[in-house]
Amino acid sequence: MTGGAGFIGSHLCDFLLDKNFKIICVDNLITGNNSNIQHLLTNKKFKFINHNVSNHIKIDEKLDYVLHFASPASPVDYQKIPIQTLKVGSLGTHNTLGLALAKKAKYMLASTSEVYGDPLVNPQPESYWGNVNPVGPRGCYDESKRFAEALVMAYHRIHKVDIRIVRIFNTYGPRMRKDDGRAVPNFINQALSNKPITVYGGGKQTRSFCYISDLIEGIYKLIMSDINEPVNLGNPDEHTIIEIAKIIKKLTKSKSKIVFKKLPVDDPHVRCPDIRKAKKNLGWEPKISLKYGLQKTINWYNK
Ligand code: UDP
Repeated sequence: MTGGAGFIGSHLCDFLLDKNFKIICVDNLITGNNSNIQHLLTNKKFKFINHNVSNHIKIDEKLDYVLHFASPASPVDYQKIPIQTLKVGSLGTHNTLGLALAKKAKYMLASTSEVYGDPLVNPQPESYWGNVNPVGPRGCYDESKRFAEALVMAYHRIHKVDIRIVRIFNTYGPRMRKDDGRAVPNFINQALSNKPITVYGGGKQTRSFCYISDLIEGIYKLIMSDINEPVNLGNPDEHTIIEIAKIIKKLTKSKSKIVFKKLPVDDPHVRCPDIRKAKKNLGWEPKISLKYGLQKTINWYNK
Protein backbone atom coordinates (compact mmCIF):
# COMPACT_ATOMS: atom_id res chain seq x y z
CA MET A 1 0.00 0.00 0.00
CA THR A 2 1.29 3.39 -0.96
CA GLY A 3 0.24 6.25 1.31
CA GLY A 4 -0.24 3.77 4.15
CA ALA A 5 0.83 6.33 6.75
CA GLY A 6 -1.85 8.80 5.69
CA PHE A 7 -5.30 9.35 7.15
CA ILE A 8 -7.20 6.86 4.97
CA GLY A 9 -4.19 4.63 4.27
CA SER A 10 -3.43 3.98 7.94
CA HIS A 11 -7.04 3.07 8.72
CA LEU A 12 -6.99 0.70 5.76
CA CYS A 13 -3.74 -0.86 7.11
CA ASP A 14 -5.45 -1.48 10.48
CA PHE A 15 -8.48 -3.03 8.80
CA LEU A 16 -6.48 -5.30 6.48
CA LEU A 17 -4.11 -6.45 9.25
CA ASP A 18 -7.20 -7.42 11.24
CA LYS A 19 -8.26 -9.53 8.26
CA ASN A 20 -4.85 -11.23 8.45
CA PHE A 21 -3.26 -9.66 5.37
CA LYS A 22 0.44 -8.82 5.34
CA ILE A 23 1.19 -5.23 4.40
CA ILE A 24 4.15 -3.45 2.93
CA CYS A 25 3.45 0.23 3.49
CA VAL A 26 5.33 2.68 1.29
CA ASP A 27 5.09 6.35 2.20
CA ASN A 28 7.45 9.34 2.15
CA LEU A 29 5.56 11.04 5.02
CA ILE A 30 5.18 14.27 3.05
CA THR A 31 1.57 14.58 4.24
CA GLY A 32 1.30 11.22 6.02
CA ASN A 33 2.42 10.87 9.59
CA ASN A 34 4.59 8.41 11.50
CA SER A 35 2.21 8.54 14.45
CA ASN A 36 -0.58 6.98 12.32
CA ILE A 37 1.40 3.74 12.00
CA GLN A 38 3.49 3.81 15.17
CA HIS A 39 1.33 1.08 16.73
CA LEU A 40 1.94 -1.18 13.70
CA LEU A 41 5.73 -1.05 13.60
CA THR A 42 6.11 -4.03 15.96
CA ASN A 43 3.56 -6.12 14.03
CA LYS A 44 5.38 -8.87 12.10
CA LYS A 45 2.81 -8.64 9.31
CA PHE A 46 3.59 -4.97 8.72
CA LYS A 47 6.62 -3.49 7.04
CA PHE A 48 7.24 0.22 6.48
CA ILE A 49 9.38 1.61 3.67
CA ASN A 50 10.08 5.35 3.59
CA HIS A 51 10.05 6.04 -0.16
CA ASN A 52 8.61 8.50 -2.66
CA VAL A 53 6.58 6.37 -5.08
CA SER A 54 7.00 8.94 -7.86
CA ASN A 55 10.42 7.25 -8.17
CA HIS A 56 10.90 3.61 -9.17
CA ILE A 57 9.61 1.19 -6.51
CA LYS A 58 11.58 -1.96 -5.77
CA ILE A 59 9.81 -4.69 -3.81
CA ASP A 60 11.32 -8.17 -3.55
CA GLU A 61 8.34 -9.92 -1.98
CA LYS A 62 5.43 -11.42 -3.89
CA LEU A 63 2.39 -9.17 -3.98
CA ASP A 64 -1.28 -10.08 -4.36
CA TYR A 65 -2.52 -6.49 -4.34
CA VAL A 66 -1.11 -3.06 -5.05
CA LEU A 67 -3.19 -0.29 -3.44
CA HIS A 68 -2.16 3.20 -4.56
CA PHE A 69 -3.30 5.63 -1.85
CA ALA A 70 -0.34 8.02 -1.84
CA SER A 71 -1.19 11.65 -2.60
CA PRO A 72 -1.69 14.93 -0.84
CA ALA A 73 -5.48 15.25 -0.67
CA SER A 74 -6.32 18.41 1.24
CA PRO A 75 -6.73 21.51 -0.97
CA VAL A 76 -4.34 23.46 1.29
CA ASP A 77 -1.70 20.69 1.05
CA TYR A 78 -1.85 20.09 -2.67
CA GLN A 79 -1.83 23.78 -3.52
CA LYS A 80 1.40 24.11 -1.48
CA ILE A 81 3.06 21.19 -3.32
CA PRO A 82 1.39 21.05 -6.74
CA ILE A 83 4.35 19.49 -8.55
CA GLN A 84 4.70 16.59 -6.08
CA THR A 85 0.92 16.14 -6.32
CA LEU A 86 1.02 15.96 -10.13
CA LYS A 87 3.96 13.56 -9.96
CA VAL A 88 2.43 11.10 -7.51
CA GLY A 89 -0.81 11.01 -9.51
CA SER A 90 1.00 10.46 -12.79
CA LEU A 91 4.48 8.94 -12.21
CA GLY A 92 3.39 7.31 -8.94
CA THR A 93 0.42 5.72 -10.67
CA HIS A 94 2.66 4.56 -13.53
CA ASN A 95 5.19 3.03 -11.11
CA THR A 96 2.54 1.26 -9.03
CA LEU A 97 0.79 -0.07 -12.15
CA GLY A 98 4.12 -1.38 -13.43
CA LEU A 99 4.66 -3.08 -10.09
CA ALA A 100 1.19 -4.67 -10.20
CA LEU A 101 1.81 -5.88 -13.75
CA ALA A 102 5.21 -7.39 -12.85
CA LYS A 103 3.82 -9.08 -9.72
CA LYS A 104 0.54 -10.18 -11.39
CA ALA A 105 -1.22 -8.36 -8.57
CA LYS A 106 -4.66 -6.81 -8.43
CA TYR A 107 -4.57 -3.02 -8.39
CA MET A 108 -6.59 -0.30 -6.71
CA LEU A 109 -6.38 3.43 -7.37
CA ALA A 110 -7.63 5.83 -4.72
CA SER A 111 -9.31 8.46 -6.88
CA THR A 112 -11.49 11.32 -5.77
CA SER A 113 -14.74 13.22 -6.16
CA GLU A 114 -12.46 16.05 -7.37
CA VAL A 115 -12.51 14.39 -10.80
CA TYR A 116 -16.02 15.92 -11.06
CA GLY A 117 -14.59 19.42 -10.43
CA ASP A 118 -17.29 22.01 -9.70
CA PRO A 119 -20.10 19.71 -10.82
CA LEU A 120 -23.01 20.83 -12.96
CA VAL A 121 -24.90 17.66 -12.01
CA ASN A 122 -25.82 16.95 -8.36
CA PRO A 123 -25.56 14.28 -6.96
CA GLN A 124 -22.69 13.01 -9.12
CA PRO A 125 -23.05 9.55 -10.71
CA GLU A 126 -19.93 7.78 -12.00
CA SER A 127 -21.16 8.43 -15.55
CA TYR A 128 -20.77 12.22 -15.12
CA TRP A 129 -17.57 13.47 -16.81
CA GLY A 130 -17.08 16.50 -14.62
CA ASN A 131 -16.40 20.21 -14.87
CA VAL A 132 -12.72 20.75 -14.11
CA ASN A 133 -10.54 23.83 -14.58
CA PRO A 134 -7.20 22.34 -15.67
CA VAL A 135 -5.21 25.53 -15.06
CA GLY A 136 -6.80 26.65 -11.78
CA PRO A 137 -5.23 26.06 -8.35
CA ARG A 138 -7.03 22.72 -7.90
CA GLY A 139 -5.97 21.49 -11.36
CA CYS A 140 -2.82 19.84 -9.95
CA TYR A 141 -4.94 17.40 -7.95
CA ASP A 142 -7.99 17.06 -10.19
CA GLU A 143 -6.03 16.51 -13.39
CA SER A 144 -3.46 14.17 -11.86
CA LYS A 145 -6.29 11.96 -10.59
CA ARG A 146 -8.09 12.16 -13.94
CA PHE A 147 -4.84 11.18 -15.68
CA ALA A 148 -4.35 8.41 -13.09
CA GLU A 149 -7.79 6.99 -13.86
CA ALA A 150 -7.04 7.07 -17.60
CA LEU A 151 -3.71 5.30 -17.07
CA VAL A 152 -5.30 2.65 -14.85
CA MET A 153 -7.94 1.97 -17.52
CA ALA A 154 -5.20 1.74 -20.19
CA TYR A 155 -3.28 -0.86 -18.12
CA HIS A 156 -6.53 -2.73 -17.72
CA ARG A 157 -7.36 -2.65 -21.44
CA ILE A 158 -3.86 -3.24 -22.79
CA HIS A 159 -2.14 -5.32 -20.08
CA LYS A 160 -5.28 -6.87 -18.54
CA VAL A 161 -4.34 -5.72 -15.05
CA ASP A 162 -7.28 -6.47 -12.74
CA ILE A 163 -8.05 -2.94 -11.54
CA ARG A 164 -10.38 -1.09 -9.17
CA ILE A 165 -10.96 2.67 -9.03
CA VAL A 166 -12.53 4.14 -5.92
CA ARG A 167 -13.74 7.73 -6.16
CA ILE A 168 -13.54 8.86 -2.56
CA PHE A 169 -15.80 11.71 -1.46
CA ASN A 170 -15.20 13.89 1.64
CA THR A 171 -14.19 11.64 4.51
CA TYR A 172 -13.43 12.54 8.13
CA GLY A 173 -12.45 10.95 11.40
CA PRO A 174 -9.55 10.41 13.80
CA ARG A 175 -6.00 10.90 12.41
CA MET A 176 -6.85 13.80 10.10
CA ARG A 177 -4.01 16.24 10.62
CA LYS A 178 -5.06 19.12 12.83
CA ASP A 179 -3.45 21.54 10.37
CA ASP A 180 -4.45 19.91 7.08
CA GLY A 181 -6.70 22.88 6.33
CA ARG A 182 -9.89 20.96 5.63
CA ALA A 183 -13.27 21.99 7.00
CA VAL A 184 -13.79 19.28 9.63
CA PRO A 185 -10.37 19.44 11.37
CA ASN A 186 -10.35 23.25 11.09
CA PHE A 187 -13.82 23.68 12.58
CA ILE A 188 -13.31 21.16 15.38
CA ASN A 189 -9.95 22.56 16.45
CA GLN A 190 -11.13 26.15 16.20
CA ALA A 191 -14.22 25.26 18.24
CA LEU A 192 -12.27 23.36 20.90
CA SER A 193 -9.96 26.31 21.45
CA ASN A 194 -12.81 28.87 21.29
CA LYS A 195 -11.15 30.56 18.31
CA PRO A 196 -13.21 31.94 15.38
CA ILE A 197 -14.68 29.23 13.13
CA THR A 198 -13.65 30.19 9.60
CA VAL A 199 -16.40 29.60 7.06
CA TYR A 200 -15.32 30.35 3.49
CA GLY A 201 -17.68 32.28 1.22
CA GLY A 202 -21.21 32.48 2.56
CA GLY A 203 -21.05 28.84 3.65
CA LYS A 204 -23.87 27.94 1.23
CA GLN A 205 -21.64 25.47 -0.66
CA THR A 206 -22.45 21.85 0.12
CA ARG A 207 -20.42 18.76 1.02
CA SER A 208 -21.38 15.26 2.11
CA PHE A 209 -19.15 13.83 4.84
CA CYS A 210 -18.48 10.12 5.27
CA TYR A 211 -17.07 8.67 8.50
CA ILE A 212 -13.79 6.83 8.00
CA SER A 213 -14.98 3.36 9.14
CA ASP A 214 -17.82 3.41 6.59
CA LEU A 215 -15.40 4.34 3.82
CA ILE A 216 -12.92 1.60 4.78
CA GLU A 217 -15.67 -1.05 4.66
CA GLY A 218 -16.68 0.14 1.21
CA ILE A 219 -13.07 0.09 -0.01
CA TYR A 220 -12.65 -3.47 1.24
CA LYS A 221 -15.84 -4.60 -0.49
CA LEU A 222 -14.66 -2.97 -3.71
CA ILE A 223 -11.21 -4.63 -3.51
CA MET A 224 -12.95 -7.99 -3.10
CA SER A 225 -15.41 -7.33 -5.97
CA ASP A 226 -14.75 -7.70 -9.69
CA ILE A 227 -15.75 -4.19 -10.77
CA ASN A 228 -13.19 -2.88 -13.27
CA GLU A 229 -14.60 0.65 -13.40
CA PRO A 230 -14.88 3.67 -11.09
CA VAL A 231 -17.14 3.40 -8.06
CA ASN A 232 -18.17 6.35 -5.88
CA LEU A 233 -17.84 5.87 -2.13
CA GLY A 234 -19.15 8.55 0.19
CA ASN A 235 -22.07 9.54 2.35
CA PRO A 236 -24.96 11.11 0.41
CA ASP A 237 -26.08 13.10 3.48
CA GLU A 238 -25.53 16.57 1.97
CA HIS A 239 -25.12 19.70 4.13
CA THR A 240 -24.12 23.30 3.62
CA ILE A 241 -20.77 24.22 5.18
CA ILE A 242 -22.42 26.74 7.48
CA GLU A 243 -24.60 23.90 8.81
CA ILE A 244 -21.48 21.82 9.47
CA ALA A 245 -19.88 24.73 11.34
CA LYS A 246 -23.01 25.16 13.49
CA ILE A 247 -23.29 21.44 14.26
CA ILE A 248 -19.63 21.31 15.36
CA LYS A 249 -20.02 24.46 17.46
CA LYS A 250 -23.00 22.89 19.22
CA LEU A 251 -21.39 19.47 19.75
CA THR A 252 -18.28 21.05 21.26
CA LYS A 253 -20.34 23.54 23.33
CA SER A 254 -17.93 26.12 21.98
CA LYS A 255 -17.95 29.87 22.54
CA SER A 256 -16.37 30.43 19.12
CA LYS A 257 -17.81 33.01 16.74
CA ILE A 258 -18.47 31.95 13.17
CA VAL A 259 -16.57 34.29 10.83
CA PHE A 260 -16.70 34.47 7.04
CA LYS A 261 -13.55 34.42 4.87
CA LYS A 262 -12.99 34.59 1.13
CA LEU A 263 -14.15 31.55 -0.84
CA PRO A 264 -11.10 29.82 -2.40
CA VAL A 265 -10.87 29.90 -6.22
CA ASP A 266 -12.76 27.04 -7.93
CA ASP A 267 -14.19 25.77 -4.63
CA PRO A 268 -16.99 23.39 -5.77
CA HIS A 269 -20.46 24.83 -5.08
CA VAL A 270 -22.02 21.43 -4.44
CA ARG A 271 -20.82 17.89 -3.88
CA CYS A 272 -22.79 14.76 -3.14
CA PRO A 273 -22.12 11.19 -4.22
CA ASP A 274 -24.66 9.16 -6.14
CA ILE A 275 -23.94 5.79 -4.51
CA ARG A 276 -26.46 3.62 -6.34
CA LYS A 277 -23.67 1.66 -8.03
CA ALA A 278 -21.96 0.79 -4.72
CA LYS A 279 -25.30 -0.07 -3.12
CA LYS A 280 -26.31 -2.37 -5.96
CA ASN A 281 -22.97 -4.04 -6.67
CA LEU A 282 -21.27 -4.05 -3.26
CA GLY A 283 -24.30 -4.04 -0.96
CA TRP A 284 -22.63 -1.08 0.74
CA GLU A 285 -23.95 2.12 2.21
CA PRO A 286 -22.71 4.29 5.08
CA LYS A 287 -24.09 3.55 8.54
CA ILE A 288 -22.53 6.21 10.78
CA SER A 289 -24.60 9.37 11.23
CA LEU A 290 -22.92 12.76 10.91
CA LYS A 291 -23.45 13.67 14.56
CA TYR A 292 -22.15 10.34 15.87
CA GLY A 293 -19.10 10.45 13.61
CA LEU A 294 -18.34 14.06 14.46
CA GLN A 295 -18.63 13.32 18.19
CA LYS A 296 -16.13 10.45 17.85
CA THR A 297 -13.78 12.73 15.93
CA ILE A 298 -14.15 15.51 18.52
CA ASN A 299 -13.36 13.01 21.31
CA TRP A 300 -10.21 11.97 19.45
CA TYR A 301 -8.97 15.57 19.03
CA ASN A 302 -9.81 16.24 22.67
CA LYS A 303 -7.44 13.45 23.70
N1 UDP B 1 -14.02 25.40 4.29
C1 UDP B 1 -14.40 26.42 5.13
N2 UDP B 1 -13.57 26.75 6.16
C2 UDP B 1 -12.41 26.10 6.42
C3 UDP B 1 -12.04 25.04 5.57
C4 UDP B 1 -12.86 24.72 4.51
O1 UDP B 1 -15.47 27.03 4.94
O2 UDP B 1 -11.72 26.49 7.39
C5 UDP B 1 -14.92 25.04 3.17
C6 UDP B 1 -14.26 24.96 1.81
O3 UDP B 1 -14.22 26.23 1.19
C7 UDP B 1 -15.14 23.98 1.09
C8 UDP B 1 -15.63 23.05 2.19
O4 UDP B 1 -15.42 23.74 3.41
O5 UDP B 1 -16.24 24.63 0.53
C9 UDP B 1 -14.88 21.73 2.26
O6 UDP B 1 -13.52 22.03 2.22
P1 UDP B 1 -12.40 20.96 2.48
O7 UDP B 1 -11.09 21.68 2.45
O8 UDP B 1 -12.72 20.19 3.70
O9 UDP B 1 -12.47 19.93 1.29
P2 UDP B 1 -12.94 19.98 -0.26
O10 UDP B 1 -14.28 19.37 -0.23
O11 UDP B 1 -13.00 21.41 -0.72
O12 UDP B 1 -11.92 19.20 -0.95
